[in-house]
Amino acid sequence: MNAAVVGGGAVGLSTALALARRGASVTLFERDTLGSGASGRAAGLCYDAFADDVDAAVAADALGRYRDLGLFEPQPYGWVARDESDATAVREQIAQMQSNGVAVEALTPAALGDRYPALDTSGIEVAGLARDAGVLDPDEVVATLAEQARADGATIETETPVSLTSPTTVETPSETRTFDAVVAAAGPETKPLVADIGVSLALKTYRAQALVTEPVDATLPSFYDATREFYWRPKADALLLGDGAHEVDPMDWNPDADAEFVTRSLDRVEQTSALTPACDRAWAGLCTATPDGAPLAGQVADGLWVATGWQGHGLMRAPAMGDYLAADVLNRPSPLSEHLPDRVDPTRFDGSEEFAALDDPTRDWVE
Ligand SMILES: Cc1cc2nc3c(=O)[nH]c(=O)nc-3n(C[C@H](O)[C@H](O)[C@H](O)COP(=O)(O)OP(=O)(O)OC[C@H]3O[C@@H](n4cnc5c(N)ncnc54)[C@H](O)[C@@H]3O)c2cc1C
Repeated sequence: MNAAVVGGGAVGLSTALALARRGASVTLFERDTLGSGASGRAAGLCYDAFADDVDAAVAADALGRYRDLGLFEPQPYGWVARDESDATAVREQIAQMQSNGVAVEALTPAALGDRYPALDTSGIEVAGLARDAGVLDPDEVVATLAEQARADGATIETETPVSLTSPTTVETPSETRTFDAVVAAAGPETKPLVADIGVSLALKTYRAQALVTEPVDATLPSFYDATREFYWRPKADALLLGDGAHEVDPMDWNPDADAEFVTRSLDRVEQTSALTPACDRAWAGLCTATPDGAPLAGQVADGLWVATGWQGHGLMRAPAMGDYLAADVLNRPSPLSEHLPDRVDPTRFDGSEEFAALDDPTRDWVE
């Protein structure tokens, strides 16, 4: 099997690694540098706190692989609700997660405050705490996946933008090559890439923002406020905060964060803790969305697979989905092939669907 992967983000690199480990001859093409898309801009949250059993199975598989790669740093993930309807949803999620075997507990605001004294728990109705959650360093993820893929024989060509002239024919600025299989994991660009050969994807793009504060002196969990709709994670001795998602044209967007996002995020830290940090750096990146919130990961034409539509969860899922895709390309079983095919089949849509990128319910848990 001679396979090409388009896109050097976490998903493309994971797929290339898994294909190489399963014995395929792999060439990965990245138009820019590795991690230059969403993967290098991600917050790095990585958790198993999913109420849905398929999402939980993907998360368990991915977290195991990140642990094996030495990339997973344990960090509890807490999430809170401040009004009755959000609180009811959080309580239901916790019960469902527990029935899926996820190590998560419901905490009263007082118990949360005892555990994390720097948190201001006033106004919080209920909290969930996922004990086996963690964080990733996106740059380390990209570098390690690339190093391992190369060690397993994959060829990685950066600064090499490609287009498709048939499902299995890749055109670079210097040559045209035909493969047995092509996996397009090009983030938002996957849509125009496969549109050139007549495949229409139900995919929208939204812009998410993040910032890192100056150092703070506090022990905090990763945290999502479901009512105020923002998150943070501890990053070294600082906090990384995120929210501010809105639909954009992937060809025309601003990679710098908005001043208004920075002000709002710092205000939220002050409202939710005893901290008043300043902003050290801020940025924006692109995420992809589908009509039902599940990714598009599978075959779309003879010899052509796509992997996109991660709804802000692509980094944490990458090693599990890369292995699933590699197995699918090679027509072999994977730990997820029992759970996933129908859920993620890209042909469940015909590409003409009208939908709003940010209507997806799963998006509520991370931008
Ligand atoms: C601010 C922010 C915070 C986030 N936080 C989290 C988080 O905490 N946890 C989480 O799991 N996810 C998070 N995400 C989402 C996550 O970053 C993405 O889901 C994930 O990185 C997608 O990986 P990917 O490999 O599919 O795409 P990308 O990383 O975007 O990679 C696609 C690559 O394809 C390349 N490419 C495009 N077109 C071509 C072409 N024609 N030829 C060759 N190469 C091409 C691009 O240059 C790019 O490098 C966040 C995203 C943002 C923006």
